[in-house]
Amino acid sequence: MELNQALALIRRVPDFPEPGVLFQDITPVLGDPGGFKAVIDAMASEVGSDGPVDAIVAIDARGFFFGAAVAYSLGLGVVPVRKAGKLPAVGGKATYSLEYGTAELEIPSDVIKPGQRVAVIDDVLATGGTANAACELVELAKGEVAGITVLLEIGALGGRSRLVGRKVHPLLTV
Ligand code: 5GP
Repeated sequence: MELNQALALIRRVPDFPEPGVLFQDITPVLGDPGGFKAVIDAMASEVGSDGPVDAIVAIDARGFFFGAAVAYSLGLGVVPVRKAGKLPAVGGKATYSLEYGTAELEIPSDVIKPGQRVAVIDDVLATGGTANAACELVELAKGEVAGITVLLEIGALGGRSRLVGRKVHPLLTV
């Protein structure tokens, strides 16, 4: 399947998870064999554009699907950055702001090795708080962020303003 056709599988669901939010639902892409392959191949190619990479960091939870598949396709390992309280051995914690309140992400201890170049992968870039927190955790682990690759960027939410100086690769921007 062509990448354009794969990206056209993303559907917009109004009023989820709360009234007024137009949620970008990527599950039809996950469930389509040709669509999933097309986006994984394209994301792997974007990761490759940042030069040699030693590991993939995948963000909880939908980022796991894409990050793990890209890592496998590039012959790399995958490191989950998880919501607080899920990891048994925590190497660092980053707090970031949500529309209401704050959230925390954690990185496993001693999985990223100092000096490793790491690509960060998620499904959607919205306000950028999540991706920025994941980058901070990579740096806390003494890794270097090679770039951030996402399936979809919601441009109006201004995520790039929290990622100034970082390379951001969306397959699609809406
Ligand atoms: P941000 O921190 O950039 O505001 O939000 C991005 C995070 O929230 C990502 O981990 C992503 O999975 C999730 N997210 C926010 N909005 C959407 C959306 O419309 N669709 C999907 N699939 N995920 C979203």
